[in-house]
Amino acid sequence: MPNIIEEVEKATQIIKKSKHLIAFTGAGISVESGIPTFRGKGGLYEKVSSKVFDLDFFYTNTKECWYLLLKYILIPLQKAKPNKAHQVLAKFEEKGYIKAIITQNIDLLHEKAGSKKVYKFHGTSDLFKCRNCNKVFNFEKVISDELIQIFQDDILSENPDNFINQNIFKNFKVPTCPICDNILKPEIVFFKESIPEDVLNLSFYNAQISDCVIIIGTSGVVYPAALIPQIVKKSGGKIIEINPEPSEYTNYLSDIFIQQEASKGLEEIGKLILD
Ligand code: NAD
Repeated sequence: MPNIIEEVEKATQIIKKSKHLIAFTGAGISVESGIPTFRGKGGLYEKVSSKVFDLDFFYTNTKECWYLLLKYILIPLQKAKPNKAHQVLAKFEEKGYIKAIITQNIDLLHEKAGSKKVYKFHGTSDLFKCRNCNKVFNFEKVISDELIQIFQDDILSENPDNFINQNIFKNFKVPTCPICDNILKPEIVFFKESIPEDVLNLSFYNAQISDCVIIIGTSGVVYPAALIPQIVKKSGGKIIEINPEPSEYTNYLSDIFIQQEASKGLEEIGKLILD
């Protein structure tokens, strides 16, 4: 197994020389902020199946889908705080090293840490679009404090055999458009939905002109996002990967694999670059 200290030193040399460094992040970077990944042990899909992001389920079972999204995703994500890994990336951008972050995450933790150029490949958990009038509303406009409190209490009294609390579900009213009262959909990219065109184009463009990508906390199985590091490699760029477990990239794409948690790996690199 490669020596972690040597890998960190090699990564630092590449980063210092690079002209268009980008970061590509996934659910793993937010694990240390208390947000579980979707797959794997302790993941969200142990509680709610992946159907919560299925467009057909959203339209056929709107109330159940909204209930599960609010309880397990939208409200918990609003409360989450960035960790050391998000902070180091924001510092790298501030100091001119990182030119863009392409994230698959919907949790806004890069922005909360101070990163400016963030391409949110799979959308965001704090905006909602009306399916009728197409107006977009932010979280505060759509989700009342009272509703947040109800779901927080719901989580605390959770029954592991039934993730839907019937007492709450019965009285729960799906948030609707403040203007025309129609269905609102979170601005998250659901299965069967396309990636927003501008984000897709800008992400691919940044990957094409990049001479180095740092991949952090992604399994590399969700397409087309998973193409980003492949595009960098094809254009002759270097691939640095940080993940406690090997991913789809580790053996065939990564030049440097730092087998550590996101915060530890980035902190080590940060010490050599920023201090
Ligand atoms: P994934 O669940 O497929 O893979 C997570 C990866 O993170 C794994 O490779 C795992 O080894 C790694 N990991 C676990 N703990 C880590 C840590 N402390 N530091 C670094 N890496 C760690 O996630 P994915 O590849 O991002 O794909 C799943 C999809 O679901 C994506 O669209 C993703 O954005 C979305 N998702 C988003 C959030 C969020 O917004 N925070 C959370 C869960 C899933």
